[in-house]
Amino acid sequence: MTCTKRSYATQAEADEALGRAIAQAKRTRRGGTSYKRLNVYRCQQCGLFHLGRGNKLVVHKPAPAPKPPTPGQQRRQQARQSAQAARQAFFADYRQTLEFCRILIDREIARYEALGIPKRKVVQEAERD
Ligand SMILES: [Zn+2]
Repeated sequence: MTCTKRSYATQAEADEALGRAIAQAKRTRRGGTSYKRLNVYRCQQCGLFHLGRGNKLVVHKPAPAPKPPTPGQQRRQQARQSAQAARQAFFADYRQTLEFCRILIDREIARYEALGIPKRKVVQEAERD
């Protein structure tokens, strides 16, 4: 993409053109007082100098510090954390129960095997009749 603006090879050349543009703006009063914001800048695309208006104020604000959580946010986060902890505790208890059941079943099976009791055969509904 090429620049459509009038280009100047050097800063001095552009400064000279800027002086002429400001003089003309003052003389003809075209553009009101916008000549006050006219300046020279080096184009980042073509590397040459152009005249342009710095209409945007360039203010380098430091990033705002993150806000501390409000009391409501703290309260809700606390509630979420305690609810999550309760769920996790419940699930851990459930898993432990399952583990104990499995241990008991395994022991019962071992006891039956030690006594020589034959394994029960599970009969499916379809096979029953
Ligand atoms: Zn350019």
